[in-house]
Amino acid sequence: MRAARLLSHDGIAGVKLVEAPMPERRPGEVLVRLHRACLNHVDLYLCKGGSGITHALPQTLGVDGAGEVAECDAGDANLKVGDKVVLYPAITCGRCEFCLRGDVILCTRVRILGEQRDGTMAEYIVMPAANCFAVPEGWTLDEAAGLPTAYLTAWRMVVTRGAVGPSDRVLIHGIGGGVSIAALQIAKMLGATVIVTSAHDEKLDKAKGLGADHAINYAREEVLARVMEMTGKRGVDVVVENVGEKTWGVSLRALVRGGRIVVCGATTGGTPAADLQRVFIRQLQIFGVTLANPGELRDMIRAFTANGIRPVIDSSYPLDQVPQALERLAAARQFGKVVVEIN
Ligand SMILES: [Zn+2]
Repeated sequence: MRAARLLSHDGIAGVKLVEAPMPERRPGEVLVRLHRACLNHVDLYLCKGGSGITHALPQTLGVDGAGEVAECDAGDANLKVGDKVVLYPAITCGRCEFCLRGDVILCTRVRILGEQRDGTMAEYIVMPAANCFAVPEGWTLDEAAGLPTAYLTAWRMVVTRGAVGPSDRVLIHGIGGGVSIAALQIAKMLGATVIVTSAHDEKLDKAKGLGADHAINYAREEVLARVMEMTGKRGVDVVVENVGEKTWGVSLRALVRGGRIVVCGATTGGTPAADLQRVFIRQLQIFGVTLANPGELRDMIRAFTANGIRPVIDSSYPLDQVPQALERLAAARQFGKVVVEIN
């Protein structure tokens, strides 16, 4: 089968379309014929050596994927050949203390697609049956493939940890990336007031089209001053943070007393000044998030179906153009998910 594999740590140039061995299905597993994959920033980290993510070479890239069931156990009550499925990307051990308490995404032996095992940029993949979720009625496979990483992470940030409600004001840095857009859609679904930032007016306009209440162009406006102006000098209840060193100081100062930062990334660096006095005097809360549990995926699919929310798609590239797709992501030109069309 064809697969987009990372052969060496030479940046995007290390990604090649190659023939890879067909995965073998065991009982309890499902062979999925993949139709769509989606890109994430972790793909770029892997190209550069992994940023601490333990992985093997060659490595098939891709955390997010959707396709159809090609083979499953004959007695599986929930799946049959031909079913359209989206993959929950974390395979967990089921036995460690975190799995036993139901927070499986904290599993000490977690293996994530495209990170600790071969991913979704391939024609086929084998997954545990429990990782296969039905694609909602009426959704395209592009939309389904856009759901796992960005939307799951955003759901845990905004709903589970951020506990955002209708009275809350939420600041989202760097609108355009998958998590930021997902956080905007989810926060608006919950009735919150949302402020977004970007250096590009066209991204801010698109965000307003998705319901953003206020937009700040940080290339020519001072973000903190504008946030304080927009909130009557009060500050926001929640900051959705994935930028890191460049925005962390503003994030801390933009928060109201008792406010919450939810952080899922640090693209500009991971060691900003902590400003601990501000954290304890103003009783701020900081939550780290990576992906979410399968139950959160189920809740999100139900909520999105009920509220008519679909993942935002930026663009599509065929499987033999994964490097070009990665270049688009690396240049931060996208607004929404970048899709890989497999077949
Ligand atoms: Zn576990």
